[in-house]
Amino acid sequence: MKAQDGMYIDGAWRPAAGPDLIDVVNPVDERIIARVPAGGADDIDAAVRAARAALPSWAATPPAERAARLTALRDLLVARKDEIARTVTAELGSPLAFSEAVHAALPIAVAGTYAELAATYSFEEKVGNSVVHHEPIGVVGAITPWNFPLHQVVAKVAPALAAGCTVVLKPAEDTPLTAQLFAEAVHEAGVPAGVFNLVTGLGPVAGQALAEHPGVDLVSFTGSTAVGRSIAATAGAAVKKVALELGGKSANVILPSADLAKAVAVGVADVMSNSGQKCSALTRMLVHRDQYDEAVALATAAAAKYGERIGPVVNAKQRARVRGYIEQGLAEGARLVAGGPEAPRDTGYFVSPTVFADVTPDMTIAQEEIFGPVLSILRYEDEADALLIANGTVYGLAGAVWAGDEAEAVAFARRMDTGQVDINGGRFNPLAPFGGYKQSGVGRELGAHGLAEYLQTKSLQF
Ligand code: NAP
Ligand code: MG
Repeated sequence: MKAQDGMYIDGAWRPAAGPDLIDVVNPVDERIIARVPAGGADDIDAAVRAARAALPSWAATPPAERAARLTALRDLLVARKDEIARTVTAELGSPLAFSEAVHAALPIAVAGTYAELAATYSFEEKVGNSVVHHEPIGVVGAITPWNFPLHQVVAKVAPALAAGCTVVLKPAEDTPLTAQLFAEAVHEAGVPAGVFNLVTGLGPVAGQALAEHPGVDLVSFTGSTAVGRSIAATAGAAVKKVALELGGKSANVILPSADLAKAVAVGVADVMSNSGQKCSALTRMLVHRDQYDEAVALATAAAAKYGERIGPVVNAKQRARVRGYIEQGLAEGARLVAGGPEAPRDTGYFVSPTVFADVTPDMTIAQEEIFGPVLSILRYEDEADALLIANGTVYGLAGAVWAGDEAEAVAFARRMDTGQVDINGGRFNPLAPFGGYKQSGVGRELGAHGLAEYLQTKSLQF
């Protein structure tokens, strides 16, 4: 695969400060497909300085001009969509059709929404005798994971640029090529030097240096709860704002009046998509006891269809983690009805599409984020019981409710402690705020709410 051998800092590709490299591995065949520089504190410092220097002029750039750059960026992503899909497939391992339909198409849609929002958002409002200006918060340190390599980059960088902020991005070590491609598009879109900067590198080195840098005003992080917690602590000590998009353990609640076959089919498809590497994945299916056996049979049959269709997980460590959870499910007494811990192929980081029945709410697989193609089916007695189970984890990112009557589903959804709920299979909306209740995070991404995260208010009284 094509790779840049430098960092994108202050409008140009520059050699890294140190000699270290990151091997980029194709998870399907475990081969090294490229090497990129592993940046350190010096690279981060150079990038943050460039971002600071570029801030006053980008912040003062009229929103219409910022919108024009974002429109150009969106158009360049459209022009390179096949290359994006191929690159994501090469470094993440997702099937090409999924990379085209989701990994390339979704960030294009999100970039489009911010091109429009930059032009239409009210950066100024009148409140009584005050005029309130919504001003950019400053230099943004963005730290992103590998599971949606371009989407998570765009979901931070596009609103930050729309707001008038400048950015230093540290992408996941597993998916730096997609991030380099994005940096090329930003450059071609005519975004001024220093407004966007890319430093590839390792989390505990480059990521930590970025989170700790005094020249960063806001750290926006997506990834694990453990790292999120430490970033928030560092930022708290420096009285710096953070946005955290962390894990999830979403409940898919199937009420007795629902179309059971449809609800189960959509639920299984959701957990298997992207090999289960989705913070919003509906990993806990809640079924009434009278329909339980039927639902388990339907899910078992549905999972069998995914055997050859899903890609691997991202790396050997993730595969070991996911298999460890499957073994723990067995050890704690859950009933395996599909898949299992054995590797389905000799090479590649594949995990069998796995379904557990007789999962109880206290089991580890019902509480912790697995981040693999593993579905747990839980039994509930009545609606009150279903709600207790649905809300009974530390997470609250997403969820789903199915019922014969939409109003019934909505009434249940309103009692869930979670940031997003799909009603009867409602589709993902790139303009709706995305983010978590409880330990799933702090702040929201996407749409106008996502833009507001990168703004701070200044009130002028008259
Ligand atoms: P992670 O370590 O939290 O990685 C997320 C990002 O943070 C990556 O860019 C990572 O760099 C960086 N990072 C790691 N340590 C850091 C530190 N000390 N300071 C600053 N940045 C740091 O997540 P992971 O290890 O890739 O995955 C572990 C688990 O996290 C998954 O199994 C899943 O449960 C969860 N996860 C959740 C999401 C989500 O969308 N909410 C996404 C990914 C993972 P490196 O790439 O170099 O590690
Ligand atoms: Mg990591």
